[in-house]
Amino acid sequence: MFNSFHDLADQQLAGGTLTRGQARTILDSGDDELLDLVAAAARLRRAHFADTVKVNYLVNLKSGLCPEDCTYCSQRLGSAAEILKYTWLKPEEAAEQAASGIRAGASRVCLVASGKGPTDRDVDRVATMVAGLKQEHPQVEVCACLGLLKDGQADRLKAAGVDAYNHNLNTSESNYADICTTHDYADRVRTVGKAKDAGLSPCSGLIVGMGETGEELIDAVFALRELDADSIPVNFLMPFEGTPLEGTWLLTPAHCLRILALVRFACPDTELRMAGGREMHLRSLQPLALHVANSLFLGDYLTSEGQAAQADLDMIADAGFVVLAPAGPVPAASGNDGGAAGAGIAIRRRGAGTELAPNA
Ligand code: SF4
Repeated sequence: MFNSFHDLADQQLAGGTLTRGQARTILDSGDDELLDLVAAAARLRRAHFADTVKVNYLVNLKSGLCPEDCTYCSQRLGSAAEILKYTWLKPEEAAEQAASGIRAGASRVCLVASGKGPTDRDVDRVATMVAGLKQEHPQVEVCACLGLLKDGQADRLKAAGVDAYNHNLNTSESNYADICTTHDYADRVRTVGKAKDAGLSPCSGLIVGMGETGEELIDAVFALRELDADSIPVNFLMPFEGTPLEGTWLLTPAHCLRILALVRFACPDTELRMAGGREMHLRSLQPLALHVANSLFLGDYLTSEGQAAQADLDMIADAGFVVLAPAGPVPAASGNDGGAAGAGIAIRRRGAGTELAPNA
C-alpha cells in the first residue's frame, strides 16, 4: 500500500495509477488525517493547475417540464419542487445571462436545457445562440448540456462553435437503475462518446450523497477515469423538497473533501469542479476544497440559489488563488483588500430579493 498520502501523491506525480485499495483508503481515512489528505491532493492540483481556479457560469435555457424521472432532479417528471418552469429562452435573453457571468470572470458558459435530449430543431436553436455568443465573446468557452445526443447532433454542435459537451455519469453502473428508470447508464456513456468523437471536450461527473456505497462511488470515479473526460464536476446532492430524495442528508463536509481528494488522486490532471450543493455540504470547508478542486460554478445553479457570485470571487482571492482568464491567469476581481463586499459584481441572482423561486 503506501505509508502516507504524500507517498501516494509522489506515486501519482510520477504517473502512477490509483488502485481500488488506495481509493478505499482515501474514502475511509479519519478526520485526524484530513489535513494530510488535502495537503497531498493539493500537490497534484498545484502541479497541474498552479494557483488558478476556472470559473464556469450556468445558463438554464429550458427549465423543468422534463419527461425523465431522475430521482435527484427538481425538474423531473412529477416533481413538486417549487422551481421556475419555462421553455426555451430567447437568444437575446440567453446572451444577456451569459454576459453577466462573463463580466464576473467566467471563462466558460454552460448552456443547459432540461429534457431527455434535443430535437434537431433544438440543436439549431442552440447553434444560433452559440454563434451570437462566440461573436460577442470569442475568448469564452461554450459548453452545451442538452441531454442524450442522437447521431450527428454532436457534429452539428461542434460545427456551430460549441467547445465542450457535458453529460454526467452521476453514479455507478450498478446503482443507476436506483436513480433513473427512463434511460440507462449505457445511454449516458454513449452520449459522452459521441461528444468526444465529434471533437467536443468531454465533461462528465458525479452526484454524490444519493445513498451510494463507497465501492459504488469508487466504481463511478474509475469509470470517469476510463472515459477520460477533460473535466469532472462533482455535485453534492441538493435534496429538493418535492423529489424522491427529499430529506436525504448523507454527507459531511469532511467526507465531501475525501470525495474530492479521491477524484483528484484518480485523475490528477483533470479539471475537477466543485459543483452544485457545495455551499450546503462543504459549508465552511469550501476554501479548503479549492486546494483540491480547481474549478467551480459562479453564483446560482440551474434551479437553486448558490452563494452570491461576489462571495465566490472573494473566497477564491482569500484562499490565495486567481481566476483563470481565457487568455491566462488574472487576479480575482476582488483582491484581498476586504473591499470586495462593495465591489458589486453585476450578476443576476434570480430569486434573490423577489418572490420568484431561485433559478439560474
Ligand atoms: S437530470 Fe435531466 S433528464 Fe433527468 S430529470 Fe433532470 S432535466 Fe430531466
